[in-house]
Amino acid sequence: MRSPPGVGWVRIVSAGLGSQVEGGWIFVKVLVLNCGSSSLKYQLIDMSDETLLAKGLVERIGIHGSRIKHVKVGMDPVVKETDIPNHDVAVKLVIDALLDLHHGVLKDLSELSAAGHRVVHGGERFTSSVLVDQEVLKGIEEVIPLAPLHNPANLMGIKAVMNALPGLPNVAVFDTAFHQTMPPHAYMYGIPYEHYQVDRVRRYGFHGTSHFYVAHRVAQVMNRPVEQLKIVTCHLGNGSSITAVDGGKSVDTSLGYGTTEGILMGTRSGNLDPSVMIYLMEKYGDAKTVSDVVHKKSGVCGISGISSDMRDVEEAMEKGNERAKLAFDMLCYGIRKYIGAYAAAMGGLDAIVFTAGIGENSDLVREEVCKHLEFLGVKFDPSKNKVRGKEAELSAPDSRVKVFVIPTNEELVIARDTKELVLRG
Ligand code: AMP
Repeated sequence: MRSPPGVGWVRIVSAGLGSQVEGGWIFVKVLVLNCGSSSLKYQLIDMSDETLLAKGLVERIGIHGSRIKHVKVGMDPVVKETDIPNHDVAVKLVIDALLDLHHGVLKDLSELSAAGHRVVHGGERFTSSVLVDQEVLKGIEEVIPLAPLHNPANLMGIKAVMNALPGLPNVAVFDTAFHQTMPPHAYMYGIPYEHYQVDRVRRYGFHGTSHFYVAHRVAQVMNRPVEQLKIVTCHLGNGSSITAVDGGKSVDTSLGYGTTEGILMGTRSGNLDPSVMIYLMEKYGDAKTVSDVVHKKSGVCGISGISSDMRDVEEAMEKGNERAKLAFDMLCYGIRKYIGAYAAAMGGLDAIVFTAGIGENSDLVREEVCKHLEFLGVKFDPSKNKVRGKEAELSAPDSRVKVFVIPTNEELVIARDTKELVLRG
C-alpha cells in the first residue's frame, strides 16, 4: 500500500507546524474528514494523547488542477498535483500520504482505529454523533433536502472511506446536533405549523461542533462546571453564528433553517425581512437569482463592495473607505444585539467567547463589540486584546462577565466522539 518515497511530491518550505509528541498507543489513531463537493480536509489525531500527527487538504476534486497538500507535523508541507476525479481517488491519496515513507505518519493501516466525519445536517433525527451503518447512511440521505450542497459531499466522503478501508469503523458528527436542545419557542418560525410538520421548516442552527467545543473549553479555562455557566459563543468566520449556551446546552442560535439567518457574513446577508425576498423575486423573476444574491453577493462583501475577507475590509476602513466602515459597523452591531438578546434569553451572562477566523484574529471587531457592553457587566481590557489565534482572556480581573478568545477545534471534538463511540461499540 505504500507510495515510493517522495514520488510526485513537491516540498514547500515554510516554518512547519510544531513538533510531534511520541506517545504510547492504546485506541489509537483517528482520521478526521471534512468533505465538501470539491474538497476534502483531513487530520490524523493520536487519541492516546490527542496529538495532531498530520493534516492536509485535497482541492479541486473533479475539476482541472486538482491537488493534495499534506503536512506531517514538524515538517514542511508537501504538494502533489494529480488528476483527482472523485472522492474515492481523494481518499486513496490521503491514505498514500499517511503511509508515505518520508512524510507519512503510519507504518501500517492497522494503526488506524476509526474515521470521524463532519456531516453538516442531521435534521431532527441525529441529536448526537453516531456510528455509521446502512440505516445511518439512509438517514443522512433523507436529510439531503435540508442541506442539498453539503450532505451529498459528506456522504461521498463516508462511502469513499468505507470503500478504501473496509471494516474500519466510521462515525458521523453533525453540525446541527448540538442545537437539538433548543426549545420549540426558540426553533419555530411564526409560519403555519403545517410547514414544520410537512416541510420540516424550523430553525436547526449550524457550527454546533465549534460552539460545543469553545463553550466546554471556556468552562475549563474558567475552572467552573459548564452546567453552572451562561455563555454566548460567537463563531465568526466566513459563515458566522452566535449561540446561547445555558448550562452546557444550546438554547438558541443565530443560524436557522439554512445558512443565511443571523448576523452579516462574508457573502451572506444575515437577517432579512421576508418581504425583501418576495419583492426581489417578483422584480428579478426567479428564486435562483435571489438565492445567489443572499448567499453569494451579500454580507460584508455586498455592503463594502471590496471583499468578503474581513482583513481587506478592515484595511480599506482604516484608509477611510466609508462602505467598508459601514460593513464593519453592521457586523459589530449585529453581534452586540445577539449578545444582548441571548443574555436576556438566558436571564444572565457569565462569559462571551470569540472564535473562528474573525473571532480569533480581529481585535478591531472584538473591541467594537465589547466596548458597548459595560451595562451588561463587561469590563473589556483593550491592552489584552492584541492576540491572534491563541486562547486569551480579554476582560479585566473585576469584570463580572468574562470575555475570552478560544480557538475552535472541531476536528478534536469529532475525534473524541469517534473514540468514545467506537470504544462503546
Ligand atoms: P473561517 O471561516 O473561520 O476560516 O474564517 C475566515 C475569515 O476570517 C476570513 O474570511 C477573514 O475574514 C477572517 N480573518 C482571518 N484572519 C483575520 C485577521 N487577521 N483579521 C481579521 N479577519 C481575519
